[in-house]
Amino acid sequence: MKWQDLTRSGNVEDLRGSGGGLPIGGAGISVGGLVLALVAGWIFGVNPLTILGLMDSGSQQAPTTQRGEAPPDNDQQAQFVEAVLGHMEKTWKVILPQRFQPAKLAIFSGAVQSACGSANSAMGPFYCPPDQRVYLDMSFFKELETRFEARSDFARAYVIAHEVGHHVQNLMGTSDYVQQQRARQSKAQANQMSVKLELQADCYAGVWGHYAQRDNLLEPGDLEGALTAASAIGDDNLQRQSQGRVVPESFTHGSSAQRVKWFRQGMTTGRPESCDTFSAGKL
Ligand SMILES: [Zn+2]
Repeated sequence: MKWQDLTRSGNVEDLRGSGGGLPIGGAGISVGGLVLALVAGWIFGVNPLTILGLMDSGSQQAPTTQRGEAPPDNDQQAQFVEAVLGHMEKTWKVILPQRFQPAKLAIFSGAVQSACGSANSAMGPFYCPPDQRVYLDMSFFKELETRFEARSDFARAYVIAHEVGHHVQNLMGTSDYVQQQRARQSKAQANQMSVKLELQADCYAGVWGHYAQRDNLLEPGDLEGALTAASAIGDDNLQRQSQGRVVPESFTHGSSAQRVKWFRQGMTTGRPESCDTFSAGKL
């Protein structure tokens, strides 16, 4: 990706080395910390329903948000994050001039305290609706390369764009809608709701990708890398890897084919209206 000349976002906060290391399992662990710890290891963050569930519980301990400074100028990876986030902010402001407000993005390492509870790197990147922040541990990019063989800059940008997609869903009220629906649903139905939410975030990531392509940011191999990433983190692929079998009812993010399909959909149209994963028969 040609990202070097992009205007940097001013919304990236660096929480590395801020003493963010939390005593996981320690005496002071919050309810949220426990719940989040249970889903550790999920690629692409916690099950969104878990986060929504935390919001439900009225959070007895009201987890606080850590604050940080902008990352240093000589940190190439952080510069990349600031550059692509800046382009995403510009893009969404054009698409949704009335509704869009930028999210914060916190870079952390090890563990972090969010308004959704304490989280650690093993969970992968996630978006926390109550503090409107994307949480990103850079080691996930390494994992994307080594475990999933998705090497391009655009694959890394897709990860961020997916989380920004969750922010857009939050602004549009979609996250609230999902939360209300799931309150009266069975486990299987609630999982299906999660899949729809996740695939829409993939489609929104593609919507941004459409603009990245239009602005000539993509280089050879970029698109392939992102599609490799989208495919690699499908629930079927992850389940096959981790447990040797596939259980579709337990999917929360969608299959590899679905993730690729919806990312492509956004990429092709460049329109969020084309990302209606919720209407019947759309998946
Ligand atoms: Zn997600």
